[in-house]
This record gives sequence, C-alpha cells and structure tokens, in this order.
Amino acid sequence: MDNCIFCKIAAKQIPSKIIHEDDDLLVFHDINPAAAVHFLIVPKKHIATLADCTEADGALLSKMSLLAPKLAQQLGCGYSVENGEAKGGFKTLFNTGPDGGQEVYHLHMHVIGGPRPWTRSPV
Ligand code: 5GP
Ligand code: ZN
Repeated sequence: MDNCIFCKIAAKQIPSKIIHEDDDLLVFHDINPAAAVHFLIVPKKHIATLADCTEADGALLSKMSLLAPKLAQQLGCGYSVENGEAKGGFKTLFNTGPDGGQEVYHLHMHVIGGPRPWTRSPV
C-alpha cells in the first residue's frame, strides 16, 4: 500500500528496532513508548483496521494474540503466578478509527508493559 508507514517498515524501507519477524508478522518497538516495554505486532499484509478484518484473517489475528505473551515474556513483562500471587503482565490494544485513537491505518496490536507507573496512558 503506497504511503503506508507500516507497509514501509514491514518492507524494511524504513528502519525499526525489530523484535521478531516471520512470514506473516513484523514486531518492532514503538517509537514513542508509553511504558518501559511497548512494541507493535504488525501483519506484513496491509489491513487498515481491525474492523476491516474478515473470517479469512482469523488465523492471522490468532497468531498475533498468541505471540504477544511470548514476546512480553522475552522482554521482561511476562505474566506469571508465583506462590498464588499474580505478577507482571501487559496490556494488549487495538485502536480502531478516529474515536478509537488510531493514528496509523495499518492493523497493529500494541503490547505495553513494565513496572507501573507508566510514562503515559496508552489510551
Ligand atoms: P495507533 O495510534 O495507530 O494505534 O498507534 C500507532 C503507533 O505507532 C503509535 O504508538 C506511534 O508511536 C507508533 N509509530 C508511528 N510511527 C512510527 C514509526 O515510524 N516507527 C515506529 N517504530 N513506531 C511508530
Ligand atoms: Zn500498510
């Protein structure tokens, strides 16, 4: 998609701090993090918003959701229960449309975590 910044990042035409790459997804650090850990899970395929996804995108959305806790764990904000006490954790977020606060119209899941307080509210 012309003039889509995340298509350009996915195509490596614009640099990013990459955390993970596979055939379907590129994951990179958000340029303006809301917390100590803030990365974006981005499909390589251009889809404008979550509202544009169809049943055919179900496997892709599932893959994004299942990857989030794995990468959060790698980056030090995984969720665990130790001796019955919940620890760590992260927020996953899709902004959709103007009222949803979406600025980049290429589907992405925010994964935000790290010790509270955070730098700013992610919503
Ligand atoms: P949205 O508001 O669309 O849900 O989130 C877009 C996110 O993309 C924002 O958190 C913003 O900081 C991030 N972002 C925008 N442009 C770039 C960029 O060029 N590189 C990186 N790494 N992140 C970006
Ligand atoms: Zn795009």
